[in-house]
Amino acid sequence: MTTADIGPDGTDGGAAPGGPDESLLSAALRRAEEEARPRTEFRVRLRASFAAGGLQPSGGPDPAAPVPEAPPPPAPGPRRRPAPVPRWIAYPAAAAALLLAALLSGALEPRAVPEPLLPAVRRPGPLEEALVAAERRIAELPALSGRRWASRVVEGRPVLLPAEIAFGSADAALHGGAHGEPGDAGEVDAGELRLLVLAMAGAESLLAQELPTAAAVRVPPLVTVVAPSRGAFEALVAPAVAPLPVGDSTVAFALRGADVLLLSPGALDPGGPPCEEMDVVHEAVHAWLRARSPRGRPLPLWVEEGLAGMVSQEGAFDTKEWCRGLLAAADQNGIDPLFPAEVMEVPDTASLAALVKARAPCDERPYTLIPVFHAHAESLVAFLLEDHPGCVHRAGFLDWLGRHLSGAPLPESPDGPAFAAARAFGFESPEALFRARDGWLGE
Ligand SMILES: [Zn+2]
Repeated sequence: MTTADIGPDGTDGGAAPGGPDESLLSAALRRAEEEARPRTEFRVRLRASFAAGGLQPSGGPDPAAPVPEAPPPPAPGPRRRPAPVPRWIAYPAAAAALLLAALLSGALEPRAVPEPLLPAVRRPGPLEEALVAAERRIAELPALSGRRWASRVVEGRPVLLPAEIAFGSADAALHGGAHGEPGDAGEVDAGELRLLVLAMAGAESLLAQELPTAAAVRVPPLVTVVAPSRGAFEALVAPAVAPLPVGDSTVAFALRGADVLLLSPGALDPGGPPCEEMDVVHEAVHAWLRARSPRGRPLPLWVEEGLAGMVSQEGAFDTKEWCRGLLAAADQNGIDPLFPAEVMEVPDTASLAALVKARAPCDERPYTLIPVFHAHAESLVAFLLEDHPGCVHRAGFLDWLGRHLSGAPLPESPDGPAFAAARAFGFESPEALFRARDGWLGE
């Protein structure tokens, strides 16, 4: 029971009314409580007792004795000074009273030493964690190792820049420090970086909207890394696209393994052409999908390239129109190098390049038909994602994609993965899927 539980009359606050014994007990408890921990009114009474001379210097107040009342206020009339108390009586008495009051109030008891507060540890947020992890990964790449990096957050997205590049004062420009190699990140535009980052964010929100099953896979934020020079950029990209060359217009690359989006410093030159933005968005889509693919189970090339092409052309070109024209021309000239199952099963760029080179119409230009593959990929994805009433292909494709990304078992077929995928989308074979796609393109 605490003091708060005791009512003003000394009885238990909320309990049933007790008998006279309980009332006495409560009063005794209250007194004991007051004596154990003197409160303000007790100290006031103590002081009053001292002033009235009712306090014994040699001992404490008798707990059983009635507490002397404070002297009544002086009656109106001529004021009379109380008779002075000799100092040899008053001083020791006051000292004794103060000591007693201090002892009763617990002021002289050893104070509990508060436990020291643990030092606050600042938890790094997801952006900082992503930047630190990305810096560690790129340090293992020969073209980027041994460098110092500056971490930046641009429009809410993490970016690593070579440390010699600093943000300009008016945040209008990024000014480079020591540089000399052609294509170095010398004078680059922070506004351009912001533009590219916003385009990436737009593409990702489109992906999240189009592919809810893929968006459900939670991954750390994608880190964009600005290469220190065009040379370093090409050194990192060339092995990944071999045997194809790194085109001059390639300014971005989703670097597998390092799991970052690498930008050529030229992409940050003020006023770059729109195709730069498309390239950055295209690679950002690759990075978005790869980040969500289980290790050792990449998405088929046609799905990645199809989605990357479709999303990066959003608003710039009519994907359907472009695919229709290119595929019709390849068909009319009999130069389509790929069978439907090959389009759906070719695993990577190197295998695609080998297939296309083997069927090239002329040896001088071995890879000239690679765009035909891209037209197949983009039109297939666009067709499968077309959302019209009564169509089951979209649901089938999204379900298959979600299973692929979550690592769930995929439907299998003795005829191979292209047949299994086509059947998962609602077609009896890859050829049937391509025929339906051709019909949609001709609409
Ligand atoms: Zn691509």
